[in-house]
Amino acid sequence: MKRQLSSNLLKWYDSEKISLPWRNSANAYHIFLSEVMLQQTQVNTVIPYFQRWIQAFPTIKDVAQAPLDHILKQWEGLGYYSRARNFHKSCQIICEKFSGEIPNNIEAISSLPGIGPYSAAAVMSIAFHHPLPAVDANVLRIVSRLHLLSAPVSTLTGKVASLLSEIIPKNRAGDFNQAMMDLGRVICTNRNPKCDICPLNICCKAYAKNLTHAFPKKNAKPLKPVYKIAVGVIWRDGDILISRRKEEGLLGGLWEFPGGKLLPGETAENCIVREVQEELGVVVQTTEFIKQIKHSYTHFSIIMDAYHCKYISGEPRCYQCSDWRWIEPEDISMLPFPKANHKLFQHAFAKEELC
Ligand code: SF4
Repeated sequence: MKRQLSSNLLKWYDSEKISLPWRNSANAYHIFLSEVMLQQTQVNTVIPYFQRWIQAFPTIKDVAQAPLDHILKQWEGLGYYSRARNFHKSCQIICEKFSGEIPNNIEAISSLPGIGPYSAAAVMSIAFHHPLPAVDANVLRIVSRLHLLSAPVSTLTGKVASLLSEIIPKNRAGDFNQAMMDLGRVICTNRNPKCDICPLNICCKAYAKNLTHAFPKKNAKPLKPVYKIAVGVIWRDGDILISRRKEEGLLGGLWEFPGGKLLPGETAENCIVREVQEELGVVVQTTEFIKQIKHSYTHFSIIMDAYHCKYISGEPRCYQCSDWRWIEPEDISMLPFPKANHKLFQHAFAKEELC
């Protein structure tokens, strides 16, 4: 039965595999990049980013030598910016320690920033044929249905890796992992799996017992917090003041309009004046409400009130940011900004300077 599962899966993959720009390539850099971009992101979203990236940075050396702003600008809109920063650092390490070649060594690749067990196994199996199962949410779902695994899905990674290690073929490990990825995307989907045409239905316990809807067992979802934020578009002689987030943490390294979270009982306008003073040492005065922006991130949401502000005094300093600049509004598209700030651009610059 185990051998049949593997051979049915590979036969299906040979005739149905999804055509993707990084497939059918032995280029380990392309494989590595695609796996990093695919972390937490849908394939269809990744494809144009991948293609633009390869045009902009044809080699690992090009990535390693690029300034972080260029890296983040290429990544802008793809989200989870720590992936871009980590990929940048990884390429620098690969150039310094491995002569610009992705190391054919699981320990070496696992030591690169941002590379977890899934990405390491995916790159090693696809680029170098190591027989390592790559276990992501799709694979957890498929195997939990095949075997009726009743533990919460977040606790199953080790068990699933061990079950797949017994059947992953040594000569086609990369194809096996990619076949599982495709099967999870198009056949064994979260809702309404297409069991009738699934190449694994003969081995699937959930299908046999009509229990596909009951697996995998979900983890209890914590409630998503909502944060109230206020930001200022600060004007001085036709220029606007922007600041750069520190590299560590959420949206690290991106540029933004200065501001922050409201304290309990604080108004948005008072919050902006306080935050700008704390972050940059600059005194401003709010002049006009621009827009309220709502934006949802994976683990929390924000409600952001934006105001035009007049610069009053103080030379900007990096108290709680990593950089700052006065720029002309038309130059804003040259720099990487978070999506929530992008939503504000058309409203903030709909008319000329107000102050
Ligand atoms: S038979 Fe259905 S539930 Fe089982 S692996 Fe295939 S699609 Fe998933």
